[in-house]
Amino acid sequence: MAKIVPDCQNCKHFSKALDPEISKVYIGACMKLEWPYAINIPKDDGIEGECGFFEKK
Ligand code: SF4
Repeated sequence: MAKIVPDCQNCKHFSKALDPEISKVYIGACMKLEWPYAINIPKDDGIEGECGFFEKK
């Protein structure tokens, strides 16, 4: 089941969605999981599974 990684928004790899259209659906993007690609994190469902890369900003 997909869920929001609890502290994405306090992680230094998180980039907040600035575009108003994108931020309707995504809280922002993770710059770490699939570097060099940004992974958008859906507001409602979060990302799948656990994240072992959390680093506090
Ligand atoms: S590294 Fe993990 S905790 Fe940090 S933004 Fe990406 S998914 Fe969230």
